[in-house]
Amino acid sequence: MIKKFLSPEICAECKGCCFFGKDDAWEIPAECYPRAFGGDGTVRCPRLSESGCALGDGKPFECKLYPFRVMNMGDNRVIAVSTYCPEIRTSPLSALLEFAESNRAEMLSEAEKHPGSIKDYRGGYVVLKAL
Ligand code: SF4
Repeated sequence: MIKKFLSPEICAECKGCCFFGKDDAWEIPAECYPRAFGGDGTVRCPRLSESGCALGDGKPFECKLYPFRVMNMGDNRVIAVSTYCPEIRTSPLSALLEFAESNRAEMLSEAEKHPGSIKDYRGGYVVLKAL
């Protein structure tokens, strides 16, 4: 199992990655796609409940892995991390690199079991490791 970089308590308090704008709709897992965005162009994940993700351990793979992602960059697969996450923005780069390295094989093998989670590289992510 891939270790968590952030504690569940931090994410339960934040829930920031359960809210989307039209520009980052590509981040929404297919099984959670909302029926419509609000008039302000944003939406909260329809699976988000007061106590967190209503899917629990059955949440989509990309949500389990976030703020990390396995992405396509040209002909390569890379591990990247989102700079949207406030905890990542204050984490030492050395800790992020170490996490990517120590979980490299498991991230890749799990991502390949969930090919829909592997997106083409986009800005807003920092590449940590080529696979
Ligand atoms: S944005 Fe970061 S800290 Fe906030 S819920 Fe998502 S992963 Fe956790």
